[in-house]
Amino acid sequence: MANNNLGGSSPETLVELHGLRKYYEVKGSLKRAGGFVKAVDGVDLDIIRGETLGLVGESGCGKSTLGRAILRLEEPTAGAVTFDGTDILGLGRKEMIPLRARMQIIFQDPYSSLNPRQTVGQIIGEGLLIHGMGNKAERLDRVRYLMDKVGLRPGHIRRYPHEFSGGQRQRIGVARALALQPELIICDEPVSALDVSIQAQVINLLMDLQDEFNLTYLFVSHDLSVVKHISDRVAVMYLGRIVELADKHELYANPSHPYTRILLSAAPVADVNVTPAREGLKGELPTPLNSPAGCHFHPRCPDAMEKCSQKTPALSTLENGHKVRCFLYSDETID
Ligand code: SF4
Repeated sequence: MANNNLGGSSPETLVELHGLRKYYEVKGSLKRAGGFVKAVDGVDLDIIRGETLGLVGESGCGKSTLGRAILRLEEPTAGAVTFDGTDILGLGRKEMIPLRARMQIIFQDPYSSLNPRQTVGQIIGEGLLIHGMGNKAERLDRVRYLMDKVGLRPGHIRRYPHEFSGGQRQRIGVARALALQPELIICDEPVSALDVSIQAQVINLLMDLQDEFNLTYLFVSHDLSVVKHISDRVAVMYLGRIVELADKHELYANPSHPYTRILLSAAPVADVNVTPAREGLKGELPTPLNSPAGCHFHPRCPDAMEKCSQKTPALSTLENGHKVRCFLYSDETID
């Protein structure tokens, strides 16, 4: 579904992130290189109810960590996460339980994310059991209903994950995520481990289910073409920070941040893990341990100026609501 709200809190906002940080303390000999790996480094972002917000960036840029930090699967180091008006970082374990039902995740690897000792019925119904929802017969009905919704046959209910293909396993993962009738699903590279021929089936399934169940997705991926297909808005992440955010049509037609521009200039290469050649992306993604000062992108940026290594640009809003973190567009800094 289209949604042109490009930021700012509103009644439609389901998730709000303010200054979200996830740092990992470095231990052992690497400690001398710097104290922390800054996987998520001050993210401000809204997710609008009913939209798919694509989150794209190279492996290691922090996008999966950001998704997991929203759910508190990784406890944030600082900042705020608000879900439907509730500051969830201030909640205790018991207070989080009802909210956990409303926020689910689909993992990247359908092979390792399913318990090999559980049947399909047990995997999909586990959340219902843990949350004490329904009696045994009602839970079984719900599991059968969900299996039908994701395209699994009734006879699959007593089978084990190893008896299924990758695409079918991801369907099991989708049904598990849907069991508790969530509002938000973090889709963490949900098709990256699948054959290309299967990817489209799973993407189309996710889109159909979104319409039917009024779901909100944060869709994390390194694949620009997949993100373009499924998203309403797209956020581009680089070394722990959002560097660009816009409606998907606007972003793909007018990529503004030099990093986004380079990624998209490499068409038909649609995978940000494949180094683009046309405009040239210099070097490898630096490690988030000791990220470059100022604009993190400056060592690789063809437009870098002197101040880019000294000051950190803010994520500024352009006239059309397009947000960019770059001194080519605004002198605003966060320093
Ligand atoms: Fe490039 Fe400077 Fe913009 Fe960073 S702030 S993307 S280094 S021009």
